[in-house]
Amino acid sequence: MSSRAVIIGAGIAGLAAALRLHQIGWEPVVIEPAPARRSGGYVVAFIGHGYDAAERMGILPALRERHVGAVDMVNRKPGGRHRFTVPHRTMQALLGDRGLTLMRGDIEEALYEAVEGKVPIRFGTTLTAVKQNQDGVRVELGDGTVLEAELLVGADGLHSKVRELVFGPEVRFRRDLGHMVAATTLDHLPDGARQRAFTTVTRVGHIFTIANLGPGRTAAFFTYGAANPAAELAKGPRRALADAYRDITWAAPDLIRDMSTDSVYFDSVSQIVADRWSDGRVVLLGDAAWCVTLFAGYGSSLAVGGAELLGTALRRHPGDIPAGLREWEAELRLEAEERLAMGRRNTRAHAPANRLDLLKLELPLRLAAVPPVTRLLRRHHRLH
Ligand SMILES: Cc1cc2nc3c(=O)[nH]c(=O)nc-3n(C[C@H](O)[C@H](O)[C@H](O)COP(=O)(O)OP(=O)(O)OC[C@H]3O[C@@H](n4cnc5c(N)ncnc54)[C@H](O)[C@@H]3O)c2cc1C
Repeated sequence: MSSRAVIIGAGIAGLAAALRLHQIGWEPVVIEPAPARRSGGYVVAFIGHGYDAAERMGILPALRERHVGAVDMVNRKPGGRHRFTVPHRTMQALLGDRGLTLMRGDIEEALYEAVEGKVPIRFGTTLTAVKQNQDGVRVELGDGTVLEAELLVGADGLHSKVRELVFGPEVRFRRDLGHMVAATTLDHLPDGARQRAFTTVTRVGHIFTIANLGPGRTAAFFTYGAANPAAELAKGPRRALADAYRDITWAAPDLIRDMSTDSVYFDSVSQIVADRWSDGRVVLLGDAAWCVTLFAGYGSSLAVGGAELLGTALRRHPGDIPAGLREWEAELRLEAEERLAMGRRNTRAHAPANRLDLLKLELPLRLAAVPPVTRLLRRHHRLH
């Protein structure tokens, strides 16, 4: 008889786990509180473990279809005047040959299409209680349903309910990095933003970018330093962004005024640092377990890589799920910890605290755009 898994969360981690567990002969079911697929979000670099895992799981062609190639990076002054451009060939050299530039929603969509019709997804409900013993795990949902399974996967993101119920309150694991992030998809390309480019304004304490990855694929992204993230969240995205970005007069004021606050991803930039990711038959995956943050540039890659490895470890230990989970964690922990450290190190680069940090952020990019340096970078990627 095949094993059953309840997966909480239909984000990238949850859908990747659903695909992988289905591929190894399990019967997963996915639970998502949103009424439908949440396809929003900004642009992500999909590289490393995630890329390799996607190839092994057979979804790389679907992701490649959505990749438009590297794009130019155009830097503007707060009023809109052009400062410098890093050409797409330099960005490609930085990304490497085994890397894709995608919208977060592209990865989620490709995974969703891969599991559609194979794995049931129940939208509009979530878990309210968990009980486990040696033989199985019992999950109660808000709509009164009770599910019995051999494994519960908490892939429910930064504010995971599974983590809270099984491992303890969020405050015990959350490390705020003193920044806020907001991202939203746009139905138009604002004046002055280029097609197939990141158009960015970088100021001390703030970054504002409009990314276009081809027709109909535009997103806006904001990240800024905030000493008190809770106060920013209380203001809501429109007021918080209007206050933080009042000195940036190019494009930002119109976007903030017209944004639909329902579709904006707005949160503090926070890491999750947990000394274990599993408890018996319950395992945390993706941001619920190790949220490395956008500053690490690796959240979706690690979510897909971690999901694939989870399937591999469980398959190696038929009949002993806790042993499979322990092995999985032992293999993944070092990578996750390195990415968490990278996320902390990169904090200044994403919202430079002073002029020196701003210079440190821009100089390598401008240097990389010098043709001989770009050629060197390409050669470096080929050799490694
Ligand atoms: C709509 C959206 C937009 C995003 N945009 C960005 C962005 O622009 N930039 C960025 O850096 N990161 C963004 N993220 C986070 C990014 O997707 C993740 O860091 C990364 O992909 C790892 O994914 P994850 O599946 O672990 O977590 P998430 O992508 O956060 O997915 C978690 C899923 O679990 C669901 N969930 C939450 N609580 C519960 C619950 N109690 N019960 C059941 N399900 C629950 C959520 O609705 C979501 O579908 C976004 C996330 C979402 C959901």
